[in-house]
Amino acid sequence: MDRWRVHKFGGSSVADAVCMERVARILEEDPNPRLGVVLSACRGITDALLNVVAAAERQDDGVDRRIDEIRKRHHVIAETLLSGDPRAQFLTSFEQDLRDIASILHTVRLIRAASQTVRDLIAGYGEIWSTRLFSAYLRARGKRPGRVEWLDAREIVSVEWGPLGPAVRWDVSEANIAKAVPRDQPVTLIITGFIARDARGLQTTLGRNGSDFSGSIFGALLDAGEIVIWTDVDGVLSADPRLVPDAKVIDSLSYNEAMELAYFGAKVIHPQTMAPAVLKGIPIWIRNTFAPEKLGTLICANPTSQLAVKGITSIDRCALVNLEGAGMIGVPGTAHRLFGALRDHGISVILISQGSSEHSICFAIPESEATRAEAVVREAFDSELRQGQIQSVEVTTACSILAVVGDGMAGSHGVAAKVFSALGSAAVSVRAIAQGASERNISVVIDGKHSSRALRSVHSSFYLSPHTVSIGLIGPGLVGGVLLDQMASQIERLSRDLKVDLRVRGIMSSKRMHLSNVEVPLGRWREAVSATGEPADLTRFAEHIHADHMPHAIIIDCSSSADIAARYPEWLAAGIHVVTPNKKGNSGDLELYARFQEARKQGSSHYLYEATVGAGLPIIQTLRDLRDTGDEIRRIEGILSGTLAYLFNVWDGSEPFSSIVRAAKAKGYTEPDPRDDLSGVDFARKLIILGREMGLRLELADVQLEGLVPPALKACGPEEFLERLPEFDAPMAQRLKAARERDRVLRYVGSLDAATGKASVGLVELERSHTFANINLTDNVVRFLTRRYNENPLVVQGPGAGPEVTAGGIFGDLLRVCAYLGAKL
Ligand code: ADP
Ligand code: ASP
Ligand code: MG
Repeated sequence: MDRWRVHKFGGSSVADAVCMERVARILEEDPNPRLGVVLSACRGITDALLNVVAAAERQDDGVDRRIDEIRKRHHVIAETLLSGDPRAQFLTSFEQDLRDIASILHTVRLIRAASQTVRDLIAGYGEIWSTRLFSAYLRARGKRPGRVEWLDAREIVSVEWGPLGPAVRWDVSEANIAKAVPRDQPVTLIITGFIARDARGLQTTLGRNGSDFSGSIFGALLDAGEIVIWTDVDGVLSADPRLVPDAKVIDSLSYNEAMELAYFGAKVIHPQTMAPAVLKGIPIWIRNTFAPEKLGTLICANPTSQLAVKGITSIDRCALVNLEGAGMIGVPGTAHRLFGALRDHGISVILISQGSSEHSICFAIPESEATRAEAVVREAFDSELRQGQIQSVEVTTACSILAVVGDGMAGSHGVAAKVFSALGSAAVSVRAIAQGASERNISVVIDGKHSSRALRSVHSSFYLSPHTVSIGLIGPGLVGGVLLDQMASQIERLSRDLKVDLRVRGIMSSKRMHLSNVEVPLGRWREAVSATGEPADLTRFAEHIHADHMPHAIIIDCSSSADIAARYPEWLAAGIHVVTPNKKGNSGDLELYARFQEARKQGSSHYLYEATVGAGLPIIQTLRDLRDTGDEIRRIEGILSGTLAYLFNVWDGSEPFSSIVRAAKAKGYTEPDPRDDLSGVDFARKLIILGREMGLRLELADVQLEGLVPPALKACGPEEFLERLPEFDAPMAQRLKAARERDRVLRYVGSLDAATGKASVGLVELERSHTFANINLTDNVVRFLTRRYNENPLVVQGPGAGPEVTAGGIFGDLLRVCAYLGAKL
């Protein structure tokens, strides 16, 4: 006859009648004639029972109500699945159990304390009820070969609780099962998970989530060919799916990897589950009751998966205790005394780290033990503390431990580097580090509030999910709107090919904002923004974008508001990256500019603004590359306004200058009020941005600015301005004529000189052959004169305005930030 197969179904798999029917079908499809089926209590029942005990200890009035809820849940299942005698039998024994519980609780109430034995006894009823219900149901369906029998694990499994948890007494348990289970007959055993008996014969449990352990104990006792643990996820995932929504199913894991993941918090499997299976080399499958067609995860001795890192887990609510003192150096036995004292008080240590200088030892424990642990350590080292050989015992609460697990880490380089750079780019600081000598695990202790961000970021860095960036866009106007459209068209490709996961989670206009917890559907962002929304609130907007669980946050400011630029320091300092075409920030006062730089350093954040000068043209990046590679920038000259370039490119003197302005406005080449271009202020701002990038401490007032708006027309309305501009044509015509007489052209040019620190913007005469005299109509152009580009300057030229190219420039910056954050572009 085939070997036994053992199935274990978790609480979520047997939560109610519908679930139990699903389980019955899975078992009926298994052709193996001999099945051991271990069940948990119906979902939530163990918690509910333990809460009842706690309520009785508190003498809380809600005890009866809580018991009644438990009663109702089981009644509904019994009434749905059972009928006739089986139903009556179940209900009779169930009601008797509830009466027993009530009388135990009566005593607990009186003495206001429950012993562990009482707690174990009551907590274990959940498994008794779920298995009684299910065995009666499966038997009644009559579709399994042979008999369906109920098996009480307390009659079989004998354990001894020690410091490492429950240890199975194999000889006793084997003898018990040999007596209880028929040999070589088709049979389906429905077995209570979680509960067992100790050496004295008292009921005990295998610890929370212990039914997994029961599954593998019965696998070993029945010498099963395999153990299948059925749960509510598709297998063991690369991270807890509730924290990392894009966690992936791991095909196969070694016993050791699974053990390590379980120990460090992967709740999907109980850490002790592996031992019995390893003993007999039984493979364990983790599968989804709700999707039985999926293969699941195989845990065995020699898994096929070659991934270096299998999974990333975290344990929250830890405390870190740090013992520090020069007196520990070279003194043998300090660690022994320390951990001995903790063991004597039953405090279990999750992680230990000691520097090789032995100057300090730190260890992590559950936060609930922090106060006790501190007292134990202080007592153990009382004399050393008094004599100053140990200077301090520091306890830090609200920590989390993040563990990266995989057998393959031992043979591959750079795993640790990747972990730490991911933590660094998510601005998570590391308090302590431990690496098992097996190199199967790297664990780090971090600030608890960064736990999920750290988890996601490290998870992303191993390509288990793409780099996720939370994006907020301010100013969905002409440029911002085109940018969103450009992103919409590229987002899938970026995610597929480059593993960059850009999620626009908020869009804000001057009055309203639209926030999304997942992401704004970019194909329909206009509808989304107009359909819903709340009043604009920059603080809330930034907080939403910078959500703790998102590894990275970027705000794209497509407004031209100085008020918004004034918020950059706050955002940058908090670790939010900023990308913008808004000139108001970088050309504002120097004090603000200095704050950008400080905040950027403080928050390890990036601040990119290529599109502030020359739209999408690579001007700032070029300047940075020159500077960063050690070139010396001597002079920068350029035409940084498409409008002014156009006006002087087309004006040949045959018409007055004012007509050229009027025609340019009609073609849409100027701002609605052409004075915004003619004043040269916008141009001067761009020059300041470049100057500051060169290291010059420039303010707007320092720029020698020759504006083209006649002073008499500065204050009037735009209509009047255009009407009266011809009054001032004569002097302009005169300047053109003078230039021509010298065979030169007039151009509106800005220049920066490193030696003198001077910046000027205005009309200049140029040779006809000059680069600036020969550009396309609305082009921008910049010449860099540097030590390397001396005789023959470096020139960047091309369209320097327009929504498409400007948005392209911003998009480029956005991807550059992603690359800085570790995305492989
Ligand atoms: P059961 O009731 O079947 O015993 P549990 O709730 O004990 O189920 O365990 C399954 C749950 O474990 C999943 O729903 C999932 O939320 C959680 N979990 C945590 N970490 C992981 C992980 N790495 N892989 C899979 N599930 C995980
Ligand atoms: N019912 C027990 C618990 O909730 C055991 C288990 O489900 O594995 O801890
Ligand atoms: Mg479980």
